[in-house]
Amino acid sequence: MTHIIFNDKHIDLEEQQTVLSALLEQGHQIPNSCRAGVCQTCMMQALEGNVPAKAQEGLKDTLKAQGYFLACSCMPQEPLHVRTVDVNMLRSPATVIEHELFAEGVLHLRLKPSEAFDYRAGQYITLWKDSVLGRNYSLASVVELDDSIALHIRRIPDGVISNWLHDEIKVGDTVDIQAATGNCFYLPGSPEQNMLLAGTGTGLAPLIGIARDALRQGHEGDIHLLHGARQIDDLYLHDTLMNMAQEHPQFHYHANVLQAENITPPISKNPLMQQISEVAAEPADWRFYLCGDAPIVNTMKRNLFIAGASMTNIYSDPFVSANDV
Ligand SMILES: Cc1cc2nc3c(=O)[nH]c(=O)nc-3n(C[C@H](O)[C@H](O)[C@H](O)COP(=O)(O)OP(=O)(O)OC[C@H]3O[C@@H](n4cnc5c(N)ncnc54)[C@H](O)[C@@H]3O)c2cc1C
Repeated sequence: MTHIIFNDKHIDLEEQQTVLSALLEQGHQIPNSCRAGVCQTCMMQALEGNVPAKAQEGLKDTLKAQGYFLACSCMPQEPLHVRTVDVNMLRSPATVIEHELFAEGVLHLRLKPSEAFDYRAGQYITLWKDSVLGRNYSLASVVELDDSIALHIRRIPDGVISNWLHDEIKVGDTVDIQAATGNCFYLPGSPEQNMLLAGTGTGLAPLIGIARDALRQGHEGDIHLLHGARQIDDLYLHDTLMNMAQEHPQFHYHANVLQAENITPPISKNPLMQQISEVAAEPADWRFYLCGDAPIVNTMKRNLFIAGASMTNIYSDPFVSANDV
């Protein structure tokens, strides 16, 4: 058994207990969301002691060097002196410049950061409601093409942050955002490689950003974007994607709905996974981007791997929340 030191107090850790769990158990208000080492909402700093490498996975080298770590995946093997992070160091304000519904339950939010904000389309930011409550949202905009940040936010029944963003936030308001992170973005290394981007719901946000970025960087291989939805009205960027397919011969749009009558291509009722295996029948040399609903992303990933895709060619962002873990 080991312990942490927090606010000058020793807190014992059970075997396999994380720093986050021990602090929450003691009643400390530590920001957290996914509890899976993804969202980076629970970032803390170690002042003394060894941080396990797993607790720093996905952090920028500059943050690692300063002892930052993710409390939800930190199970120290020896005493660790920790503190909460100075929120002003990691967050910066951004002004809401657009707040419009794309479709029922899907908000298009555009933000103008107060200072230079570097990111890659497809990465995600943390958007904070206050000092403790923050959630991840993927970047649909492309820094080189757009002068603001674009997010697609689905309303989740009883969801704290998504309902706040839909109902209370308005144009002119300021929100705090935290630096972009994640590995799900376009890499220009193999311009001739075929790419397949698939996701459901607002999983489309990172995918359209990645597709636009790939086209901007002159990708030559085919780019197939598959958007899965419950019904036709949920295909909230249908016209935009149809136009992209007309403008760029190598860009192909496929839509998939569960409930619909009288549909015509590119909309299909075939299950998303079936569409994927039809488009990428021999997936070994393809590159894949999979985003959105966590169980669906994980199933797509597993099936593609079984079908012969290489894990190094699969980039994914499952939209996990604490209850998925
Ligand atoms: C890397 C990453 C990127 C993300 N990008 C986006 C994005 O671009 N657009 C977007 O709309 N969301 C995105 N999300 C999801 C987002 O971070 C929040 O989880 C979501 O908005 C719900 O937050 P909330 O505070 O409204 O709901 P909460 O108050 O956290 O949850 C309320 C209830 O809804 C459940 N719940 C939470 N999230 C979901 C979900 N996605 N589906 C079904 N049930 C859920 C919870 O388990 C809980 O029971 C992303 C998540 C991750 C990890």
